Amino acid sequence: MEIVNVSLGQYSYNIYIGENAFTQYAGLPARRALVITDSNLAPLITLGNFERFVFAAGEEHKTIDTVSDICRHAARLNFDRKSRFIALGGGVTGDMTGFAAAIYMRGIRFVQVPTTLLAMVDSSVGGKTAVDIPEGKNLIGAFHQPEAVLIDPKYLQTLPEREIRCGLAEIVKTAVLGDAKLFDRLFMPLAWPGIIKRCCQIKAEVVSKDEKENDLRAILNYGHTFGHAIESASNFAVSHGEAVAIGMNLAGLFALKEKMWSQSEYDRQLELLKHLHLPYQLPEEFAPAVIVENMRTDKKNSNGQITLVLPRAIGKVEVVKNVPESKILNLLGALHA
Ligand code: NAD
Repeated sequence: MEIVNVSLGQYSYNIYIGENAFTQYAGLPARRALVITDSNLAPLITLGNFERFVFAAGEEHKTIDTVSDICRHAARLNFDRKSRFIALGGGVTGDMTGFAAAIYMRGIRFVQVPTTLLAMVDSSVGGKTAVDIPEGKNLIGAFHQPEAVLIDPKYLQTLPEREIRCGLAEIVKTAVLGDAKLFDRLFMPLAWPGIIKRCCQIKAEVVSKDEKENDLRAILNYGHTFGHAIESASNFAVSHGEAVAIGMNLAGLFALKEKMWSQSEYDRQLELLKHLHLPYQLPEEFAPAVIVENMRTDKKNSNGQITLVLPRAIGKVEVVKNVPESKILNLLGALHA
């Protein structure tokens, strides 16, 4: 079993990575626990003899109503403050279970058991929990750290190819923002346990230094400012991972124009996106003005000015504030000229 520690003072916890991580975890007790999972996973995975709450799969169900249903279910089972929630699923399940755990009886403990690649390398670590509202994604939430993250890479065997690609985009993001060696490893046959462990280490390091996103943590959003804008412009037909991949290429092009990194570094990032069969071109149908308008609503912005995370080299990125919209419009305009 590989172990990565997330060091956050009294809120520190371990991430366990390996075969049967859940059954081997000794922390789960006689105490009562509620496994929360979605309707796709419920027939695929069971985690022993715990109470279970199943919600309809999909981002559209990541709502305050589902969280309310989870809490009401727990209350009807007479769950007290010593009970636990267990998130069994992808980022949707993890974000919602974490939020329910943050507010049920003013906060109970919860365990993350991620089953998508994206959740294993990213969303299950770091304590950001949230639900969506019609006005925007993840606008209601809380910072609430899990008591443990239990990752069994065998769950990836049933994960559809498109979901694997979503996770791969976050892995490329992690490598570009934090580790040139991990980046090189991604050109070789993909050995999940090692890759997952390295991604968790990098995220743990960033989160330990800046749990509540004062500044540094924003680097985890590399590729996401363009990405979110593309996702919304497509009305979510372009998946999150696909949009992040295109977003990284656009951030890379922007950095190239600004002479923040070299042509050869940019080419190398592009080569990896192609190697992993990730998209990188902004589809023609997205007007630059619409993308920029969507970018204005990004949570990283301050005083109405766009903030971008831009690469300096493979393994190093920088948060750049007050990016002039005209520069982004020029870049996007030139792509479709
Ligand atoms: P998801 O939870 O909806 O899972 C994607 C799909 O895969 C679902 O249909 C699910 O039922 C299915 N699935 C999950 N595991 C499976 C398995 N082992 N086999 C077969 N099918 C399986 O989505 P996701 O991509 O994991 O996560 C996206 C969410 O994560 C978004 O809501 C995003 O906002 C959030 N997120 C949160 C953070 C954070 O730090 N909290 C970071 C990144 C993303």
